[in-house]
Amino acid sequence: MIALKTSLSAAFLSIVALNSSGALAYRWFNWQFDITCEATGFFVPANESELVSFVKSQYPRKTLLKPVVTFGGGWDLVDLIPTLHDHGLQVQNLGSEKVQNYIGASTTGTHDTGKQNQNLATQIIGLRVLDSQGNIHVIDKDNNLEAFRVAVGALGIITEVTIQAEPVSYLKRTNKVVEGPSNITELYQTIADIGAKYEQININGPNLVWNSSTQQLVPSTNLTLVYWEPTNHTGPANCSVDFCSNDCGICNRDYTCYDYKMNSIATTPAGICYRGFMGQFEHFFPVENLAEAGTDYFNYAISQSDRLAPYQGIKDILAAQGMSRYESDDVTVITRFVKGDDTWLSPVNTYNLQPNASGVFATLEYSWVPSYNNFTLQWFYQDLASEFIPQFGDKYNVRPHWNKMLFNNDTYASTIYPKINDWLEIQEQMDPQCQFVNPFLVDRLGIDRCRSLFE
Ligand SMILES: Cc1cc2nc3c(=O)[nH]c(=O)nc-3n(C[C@H](O)[C@H](O)[C@H](O)COP(=O)(O)OP(=O)(O)OC[C@H]3O[C@@H](n4cnc5c(N)ncnc54)[C@H](O)[C@@H]3O)c2cc1C
Repeated sequence: MIALKTSLSAAFLSIVALNSSGALAYRWFNWQFDITCEATGFFVPANESELVSFVKSQYPRKTLLKPVVTFGGGWDLVDLIPTLHDHGLQVQNLGSEKVQNYIGASTTGTHDTGKQNQNLATQIIGLRVLDSQGNIHVIDKDNNLEAFRVAVGALGIITEVTIQAEPVSYLKRTNKVVEGPSNITELYQTIADIGAKYEQININGPNLVWNSSTQQLVPSTNLTLVYWEPTNHTGPANCSVDFCSNDCGICNRDYTCYDYKMNSIATTPAGICYRGFMGQFEHFFPVENLAEAGTDYFNYAISQSDRLAPYQGIKDILAAQGMSRYESDDVTVITRFVKGDDTWLSPVNTYNLQPNASGVFATLEYSWVPSYNNFTLQWFYQDLASEFIPQFGDKYNVRPHWNKMLFNNDTYASTIYPKINDWLEIQEQMDPQCQFVNPFLVDRLGIDRCRSLFE
């Protein structure tokens, strides 16, 4: 018994909606009435053989037998993920940490790694959005979903979201340290080859380490590969007790662990173990450009020794005083992979790719970490970070992460977001008086009608 919307292939069967007594309910709520889901199709088998015949009947029709979950716009991942888990569910992917709001993370295109893994926003199949005049809009696949999934707050206040969930699963995570070639071109060819070999991998490194005697940045080509694989392990879950992402724990060592998918890919609270200044950008580009773009980016970073030198004296002073401040490598590069999507403002939107492109993107995350917090150095990091897109953006089709340092202008935005004019039209309808806009968005996206408000 399935209520179908438009076509069978679009029907969703809500398996979470089957409660233990087998009662029928079109809309399902949890016991606190704060998590709910709406099934477009619903089936309650009387016994196992009925279930077997039902699933067989849906197989030729390719009906999506997947759980959907609806929840309010205020849910943070630290609450959402355990609650989903209590219901035997998880999301397809997360970023590297859970100290985030689900909407905050998805609407900025947050992602993790995996050539078949997309960013969080692609999990969204429906939204309720409040416009600036107080009207609620129901957004779904027939109703501009591609415009709203990544909207950085500018298309209204999201009050409710419906996502595609999936049953909980385990992953095996492996950390492996390898020494990369010292020649930078060969190093990035190696990184591209490693990326091609593994389905879901994070490549930590290379680094640039400041040498106070020579006053030079010195490449360290040690790479830590962190990769995830499906497993049928059902024993102890031990990834979350030994996490190295976000500076929680030591990463560059060999080990394996097993855990529920959510815990094996994202740090548990406290989630962020380094709380200090940092210059960081993350740039996405078609994976086909990785070897060349990676080489150019790293060579450009290496060539900055003379500009960095005036700021480095403090390390020697701290060392002389025996101060054990945070002493990271001076520059760390992380490479990840994301599958592209059709969301208009997604950093991995596929609208302007070459016809023969795979649709998979690589990302380069650069982090300049100071020995101690000081604004002069932080502003220098900003200047330096702002130079990469003018240098390499057009050449490699580079798109910046919405919630890391980004500096592009509206001309560049129209290249990397070919649907920007359609998006700006919707923005005007949702927010005629520019109440959801700020100077940053005006400059980045060219929301010219709002410009005078901020001058
Ligand atoms: C330690 C650390 C690790 C990170 N790791 C990753 C990573 O692995 N991958 C990655 O891609 N990024 C990563 N990031 C960046 C991360 O994706 C962003 O910081 C993310 O946006 C954080 O979500 P938030 O809840 O803090 O959102 P906020 O920064 O609070 O909000 C982001 C945007 O969402 C909008 N918004 C929030 N709620 C609503 C709503 N209800 N309606 C409409 N708009 C709304 C806000 O207006 C804002 O524009 C990391 C950041 C940190 C600090």
